[in-house]
Amino acid sequence: MEVLAAAERRSTRQLMVGDVPVGGGAPITVQSMTITRTADHEATLQQIYDLAMAGADIVRCTCNDLEAAEGLARIVPRSPVPIVADIHHQYRLALAALEAGVHCLRLNPGNIRKPEHIRAVASEARDRGVPIRIGVNGGSLHPDLYAKHGGRVTPEAMVESALDEIRFFEDVDFDLIKISVKASSVPIMVEAYRQLSEVTDYPLHLGVTEAGPPPAGLIKSSAGIGALLAQGIGDTIRYSLTADPVEEARAGRALLEAMGLRERKNVDLIACPSCGRAEIDVVAVAADAMAAFADREIPLQVAIMGCVVNGPGEARDADLGIAAGYRRGHLFVKGRNAAVVAEDEMVDALVEWAELIHSEGAEAALARVDTEKAAREAERDRQRLLAEQGEDVNDAGTRIDLIRRHGA
Ligand code: SF4
Repeated sequence: MEVLAAAERRSTRQLMVGDVPVGGGAPITVQSMTITRTADHEATLQQIYDLAMAGADIVRCTCNDLEAAEGLARIVPRSPVPIVADIHHQYRLALAALEAGVHCLRLNPGNIRKPEHIRAVASEARDRGVPIRIGVNGGSLHPDLYAKHGGRVTPEAMVESALDEIRFFEDVDFDLIKISVKASSVPIMVEAYRQLSEVTDYPLHLGVTEAGPPPAGLIKSSAGIGALLAQGIGDTIRYSLTADPVEEARAGRALLEAMGLRERKNVDLIACPSCGRAEIDVVAVAADAMAAFADREIPLQVAIMGCVVNGPGEARDADLGIAAGYRRGHLFVKGRNAAVVAEDEMVDALVEWAELIHSEGAEAALARVDTEKAAREAERDRQRLLAEQGEDVNDAGTRIDLIRRHGA
């Protein structure tokens, strides 16, 4: 898989969120946020474990009252991943979260506005070696900045807000800083991060804020975060979806894997879009396969193809695939036919073979079967289908003749 070379990523300073490095060429990390009440530490811990399982490297919890800070003190020692406390308005809760042992704070400069409060938090965090994310949000810019920038959220206003804030922290020799400049508009957020990356080397936390429910929220987040990552900008990411946060962690992880920025952890399921030639309900079989592979950490590319006529050829680069033909599934490994299974056993066969290849390797798995026999059977079904359906199953040739006649 192609991976953006380290040299192509903007170089940033590195800091540690607990034991997870952020910036400075470290693997890009996935973040998410719990939606339980933090004071309910058992429910919050359960969600943190679910998020970690889904691919989150770092999890944020709100610290909105003293009970939440007490919850954090119970959560932090038992969490499988570092914990960030989200602070709005009350700087004293930032101090309480530090006391609870959190690994990072997130402050919104739009709503902690007294410089002496910001400095008090920065001094305490500096003494404890705890980093802080300066989280500028388009929706909560300082009123003076709105006015200065024409009463609108602009990339320039967001960058100015972040730089103003950095100064408060640097004044007390605090530089364990990450920055985000999130907006709900993808073009504004992309431009804000791009401008910010030109003027600072602090690590950047990417996100489209209030992206909304899937699928639009997924699309907006992927467009914004993906565009920046492709330019080498960004050190840690969060999808902000109106959905179960597990979806956020999965999406973040999937984006990084798709862009070759993190090692594949789970199955990469590819499937043909189906067409008039399909021998099975490709959508339903792919959904069954997604469910079957969901909890299995098998880092293989698995293909589901609707017909044996084109499927094996088009998915020849997959580690493992299956193509339907004549109520049978033709299973192939690295483009080589391996087995023929009943149509209703296709998904089970894929799981079984994926586990075999993962544990023993493709060659060892292929050595167990008669690949020549499987290839002969696949070719026979392919020829049968071609004889029945012809090369032009969608009857495009007839339409092309008609077009030519109309055009003549
Ligand atoms: S030709 Fe076969 S593999 Fe290609 S889209 Fe149609 S059913 Fe799927």
